[in-house]
Amino acid sequence: MSKFVATSAIRGAHSLVSEAEKFLDKALKEKGAKAIISFPETAFYLPLAYALFAFEVKELGDISRILSHIKSLLPKVPDEKLWLPYLGSTLDAGIAALLAEEIIMALRYLYNQEPQTDCNGFFSDTVMRSLGIQLVDGRMPGFAAILGAAPDNKTAVSIVRELQERNILTFVGCSSNGRSIIDQLREENVEMGWDTYIVPYGRDTQSAIYPLNWAVRSAITFGGIKAGQTKECLLYTKNRVFAFGLALGPLDDLKYATGAGAIAMGFPVIADTDIPEIKPSGVTTYEALVKEFDYKRIVSRCLEVRGVKVKISKIPIPVPYAAAFEGERVRKENLAVEFGGKASTAFEFLESKDASEVEDGKVTLIGEDIDSVKDASKLSMPLGIVAKVSGRKMQKDFEPILERQIHRFVNGAMGVMHIGQRDMNWIRISKDAFNKGFRLKHLGLILHAMLHQEYNAIVDKVEVNLYTKQQDVEKILSGIKKTFDERDDRIRGMTDESVDTFYSCLLCQSFAPNHVCMITPERLGLCGAYSWLDGKASYEITPTGPNQPVPKGEAQDIKLGQWKNINKFLYEKSNKTISSVSMYSIMNNPQTSCGCFECIVAVIPEANGVMVVNRDFTGMTPVGMTFTTLASSVGGGMQTPGFLGVGKLYIASKKFISAEGGLKRLAWMPKELKEVLADKLKARSQEIGDPNFFEKIADETICTTAEDLVQFLQKVKHPALEMPALL
Ligand code: SF4
Ligand code: ZN
Repeated sequence: MSKFVATSAIRGAHSLVSEAEKFLDKALKEKGAKAIISFPETAFYLPLAYALFAFEVKELGDISRILSHIKSLLPKVPDEKLWLPYLGSTLDAGIAALLAEEIIMALRYLYNQEPQTDCNGFFSDTVMRSLGIQLVDGRMPGFAAILGAAPDNKTAVSIVRELQERNILTFVGCSSNGRSIIDQLREENVEMGWDTYIVPYGRDTQSAIYPLNWAVRSAITFGGIKAGQTKECLLYTKNRVFAFGLALGPLDDLKYATGAGAIAMGFPVIADTDIPEIKPSGVTTYEALVKEFDYKRIVSRCLEVRGVKVKISKIPIPVPYAAAFEGERVRKENLAVEFGGKASTAFEFLESKDASEVEDGKVTLIGEDIDSVKDASKLSMPLGIVAKVSGRKMQKDFEPILERQIHRFVNGAMGVMHIGQRDMNWIRISKDAFNKGFRLKHLGLILHAMLHQEYNAIVDKVEVNLYTKQQDVEKILSGIKKTFDERDDRIRGMTDESVDTFYSCLLCQSFAPNHVCMITPERLGLCGAYSWLDGKASYEITPTGPNQPVPKGEAQDIKLGQWKNINKFLYEKSNKTISSVSMYSIMNNPQTSCGCFECIVAVIPEANGVMVVNRDFTGMTPVGMTFTTLASSVGGGMQTPGFLGVGKLYIASKKFISAEGGLKRLAWMPKELKEVLADKLKARSQEIGDPNFFEKIADETICTTAEDLVQFLQKVKHPALEMPALL
């Protein structure tokens, strides 16, 4: 250990501890020892103090105990002329520094001084759990905390882009020479937030505690370590949390002290300045403190020093590609061209073919490329994507599962947004991506590369055709609609009672971290793209994937559709936020919704019934809200009694809100949706013993207000009016 590093770190720790002490004195005077103190949304008090020493800080007065403990850890600042103490005292100083920083930040919360402008501040437990999932399944190989500022904005951007491409979650903050990387990235319009894996924490060194007291919670949450098991906690973070610090710009005492704390947790620090290195390993897996002046090499040096294993998807496209870009949106201002949604006719389709019919890697564009969109008032084109796949182990049943991955695969390209599926897809390409050279063939190259990468086990060859002529798109679409129907038909005839296992789907947790779809034969996933058979096939393809078999076990309430095992599974997978879910009820613990629902079912109190509205319907509905307004209150993975996101086929299922009396409750739906489902709904009308029921469902051509609806229902003698009260 270099004498210089030790001296600076210990000096820095002293100054942080005295800052914490002064701040605490002030707070005790102004707010009193009984004032409640906590970070937002955590069950771990001040997490570092709790994890390492089991301190349960609830009131301001409790902090004094931590402070006296900190002081016992704090070594004297060594005499510069003497040979320095052993590494241990520097590490102790580091831990003392972190504990002091945690106190300072908690006090700032008490004074409403946090989070800082444009910063996240403290990281909540929810975020910790949901990202934990990604850590476990390998989508996220590690974490970086950047402290300071790059020499210029361009370097700042290139460093975070490199980290993004490797799916490394990057916390950015602190300052050097009065400048923070946060502002460098803001000036360059880099989109920051959890969705893009770049999270600003704060602009001073003290706020660097946020990523650290976030990391330590994982030891308790995922590692089964008890609060107060100091050594075990630190070993866990060293061995299991692949984090590292990247210090940009000159280091001062505070940064050395914070760095020493990070090293004590097993996180190495890499700097771009001429600092004394600490090579021997032990506390960290490899080197502890390392310098690297070459910005082109600095990210790979970090990964090497921390031992982060990265799977890079090398895809031959002109924009970066990684899961980190999945959550990114393309807004109107930055739109080069869009397909589908409300803008044009579009679809995506994947089918299996004989090996002789597929030429691997071939991408063919039939029609004009996106350069032809010149008219700024209409930035849209028709688009049909047809992927042909062959493989010795490929089965027809796998087609819909592979097809549904198009969503995720296309979204991974920076500047490309994908929503929906089948003939309800919506793709946007940003101006930035366009200017970098992104063209339609790249969509095909992405599908080719990713299908090979992730479905190696079943896919041998992939060929993609892209159609942009309106007549081609329409013609092919009318043909494949039959296939979509056949896929839906395969599941018909099966009942929930006839199986003893349902399938879960966790695909949407990437943006709705607590959402779980439970898929049964009579209730498909709410996006409409996953049936029970799809869940089953997907599990066969990837046994550790997002679709898991869940045995029903003992029934808890057959009418509501609740089973013990299912509830237990949902509780675990919703990060312990949802404890019971009814498969067949809209009122009593209904299923949660992520955001991709094809339709929303909503209770209309005046009608003693429900309405359904689909995504394509832009008009007003009898509950006084449009689809968009409804969607904003239903999504996000929460239970909202009275509202339900559903796949459209569920409306014609016998299990459609059967706990509340089923289809007979349906009072209103848009005409178009009614027509799409006409055959199925007429058949169901027979089954429920009311052959004319289909005609009793109102639509927007009949009424759009609750008042008019009730009049209509009375006129046609709608059964909902006679049913037991819904509310
Ligand atoms: Fe899976 Fe449900 Fe998302 Fe569809 S909506 S992909 S079924 S989690
Ligand atoms: Zn979803």
